[in-house]
Amino acid sequence: MNRLNGKVAVVTGGARGIGRAISLRLARDGADIVTADLNLAGAESVAEEVRALGRSAIARQVDVTDEAQVEGLFADAAGELGQVDIAVANAGIMVIGPMIDTAVADWQRIFDVNVTGVWFTCKSAAKQMIAQGGGGKIILAASQAGKVGSTRFTGAYSVTKHAVVGITRSLALELAKHQINVNAYCPGIVDTEMWDQIDREAGALIGYKVGELKELASSAVPLGRIQVPEDVSNLVSFFASSDSDYMTGQAVNVTGGNVMH
Ligand code: NAD
Repeated sequence: MNRLNGKVAVVTGGARGIGRAISLRLARDGADIVTADLNLAGAESVAEEVRALGRSAIARQVDVTDEAQVEGLFADAAGELGQVDIAVANAGIMVIGPMIDTAVADWQRIFDVNVTGVWFTCKSAAKQMIAQGGGGKIILAASQAGKVGSTRFTGAYSVTKHAVVGITRSLALELAKHQINVNAYCPGIVDTEMWDQIDREAGALIGYKVGELKELASSAVPLGRIQVPEDVSNLVSFFASSDSDYMTGQAVNVTGGNVMH
């Protein structure tokens, strides 16, 4: 299955978790990969895994909250690999606590990464794709928390993910005339370091031992198991391919049935 042969994909937050799975899946589909992350060692190790699959890969240390760095990322990607066909704005962070007690600095920090960082990534990706012509695929990390109000002391995070759904819809309308599809993935409970943080920090606020909140949350998933990053990368592979050419502005749940709208 090489439906992305000849394509180039940029993945932010690609050093671990969902971003790593997306990088490897798009590479298996035939794309060359640019892995960008704050964590350069992690990004380099994923780039090495991509090369082992027979694709070209470059790793870049990028803070998505810094627009100049994001612009440089897309300039390097196009300069070194020829073009950018697919951009995955995946980098995101979590802040745990009741919204009414959230410090302004934490509120600002999560908005900087999850909303402004995603917007910067979309801006640079769109400008590159418009300049080269021929359309493109912009894919954003939202969440089931972007569809419903949040439990587990993740209210600020939920607000940012609702904003990502908003970016997806408006940008899809803005970029449709360029044949650039803009869609978002909305995962549920994915077994990554982000959920380890929720388990640890939100669990502590309600008196749970480590592991208990994750176990409780995943046992309530209708499909009966916690999600793995590959459940998400399967959907991203579809969004990145021509099979999704008539879809834009969609925020699609991949939650094991947790959320249905
Ligand atoms: P993770 O914490 O395991 O990985 C996130 C990666 O993003 C890390 O490598 C981190 O270094 C990088 N990153 C953080 N801030 C950055 C910045 N400013 N610039 C560049 N890179 C930065 O998280 P994950 O679980 O793999 O989540 C990936 C995306 O999916 C996030 O946007 C997250 O909100 C979303 N998501 C996760 C879940 C889940 O259950 N894990 C559910 C729904 C949505």
